[in-house]
Amino acid sequence: MLRLHNTLTRTVEPLRPLQPGAVAMYSCGPTVYRPVHIGNLRSFLLGDLIRRVLVWGGLSVRQVMNITDVGHMTDEVYDRGEDKMLLAAADEGLTPAEIAAKYEAAFHRDSGRLGILPADVYPRASEHIGQMIDLIGRLIERGHAYVDDGTVYYDVTTFDGYGQLSRNSLDQLRAGHRLEAVDHHKRHPADFILWKAAGPRRVVRYDSPWGEGYPGWHIECSAMSIAYLGERFDIHTGGVDLAFPHHEDEIAQSEGALGHQVVTTWVHGDHLLFSGQKMAKSSGNVWTLDRLEEEGHQPLDFRYLCLTSRYRRQLRFSPDALAAAGKARARLGARLAEWGDPAAALQSPAAKKWDERFRDAVLDDLDFPRAITVLWGLVDDDSVASAERAALVGDWDRVLGLGLGDAARAAVPPAEEELPAGAADLLAARQAAREQRDWAESDRLRDELDALSVEVSDTRDGTTWRLR
Ligand SMILES: [Zn+2]
Repeated sequence: MLRLHNTLTRTVEPLRPLQPGAVAMYSCGPTVYRPVHIGNLRSFLLGDLIRRVLVWGGLSVRQVMNITDVGHMTDEVYDRGEDKMLLAAADEGLTPAEIAAKYEAAFHRDSGRLGILPADVYPRASEHIGQMIDLIGRLIERGHAYVDDGTVYYDVTTFDGYGQLSRNSLDQLRAGHRLEAVDHHKRHPADFILWKAAGPRRVVRYDSPWGEGYPGWHIECSAMSIAYLGERFDIHTGGVDLAFPHHEDEIAQSEGALGHQVVTTWVHGDHLLFSGQKMAKSSGNVWTLDRLEEEGHQPLDFRYLCLTSRYRRQLRFSPDALAAAGKARARLGARLAEWGDPAAALQSPAAKKWDERFRDAVLDDLDFPRAITVLWGLVDDDSVASAERAALVGDWDRVLGLGLGDAARAAVPPAEEELPAGAADLLAARQAAREQRDWAESDRLRDELDALSVEVSDTRDGTTWRLR
């Protein structure tokens, strides 16, 4: 069974679906007023990888991803008091609804180009205002929320577990807010808005029992996850920057309203760094898939690059790293093209052993860097019949999603370089030694290869060689 790091418990735990054989997962989706950048896409990829691993393992998965569209207050609105959706609409000469439709379509296109399989449902926030109002009403009834001048606040002191996900205490949060201009309607500085009274200039507004206004961002995910996945579900994914306050607040809302735990496992993916900084629109260092293609790369090269880093670690993005990923993917395709048709079944113990190693890696909290090493180990293991290698790589690509079948068809003819007799065996032995972390043996084999004029170099994508 898949083991995942649960932010709630800070441990890697075996996933035990609430319903045997079926997993329900919610993934925080995009705010659709601009193109998503590749840092956002790395977050969305996390949900895709979890889902692919589970389906590959024979489970069924129901995945829901929200679309934050018009009439919503996102974090950015809290920060600056302006609605980015409306600003974008004014900038582009479109209505807010047209902006949302345009960037929602762009988001689906980007996801597809990155090999992200579509979720089962993409609920739009603007179409679930009723469910949000119901949930807010329930929170007021249960004493978790209060109304002040048409705005509804969540009272964080009424929820015992507040801060558990992000390891914050209410005292720490109070101290953290000390330097800010705190909304004096709040009873505690960490209280957050569930429903905001619409000011006179607010264009998109809805009727509610508390007057005209619009919902907070956090309530959207509570309302829509419960609506589509039920009152308890297995996995919730998102970027690490969503853990606080977004997910902390979501727990307080959902569990406050229902009186029990809702999400079992919270999985967070870390940032993508570019020139040492988190990729963010505000810092101006944004790469989109369009830009990536304009600069001569393929979107799936970026997917390969993502797989070379654990999801809980920061990924350092650079054009060079992307180019190296592209080369590695092309080389995989070229090898696959050499092998011909895949075997119908695995026969040899060696092939089964490789399959086991791959499975162990991906089930171990999505250790894709290790899985990629295993992939290269298999590719270069000439003791396994080509047809078996082709079968394994084809099957593994259901999880990797690298489009290797297509890459194989597109592959240029393999280089004319031929390895001298015995060198292939030495390379395989060296790969095995490296996997055993037997560096002395690995160095010794490198010298032997060197004597045959085969120059070996080790990269993060595996070992490559060339003839001198
Ligand atoms: Zn969310």
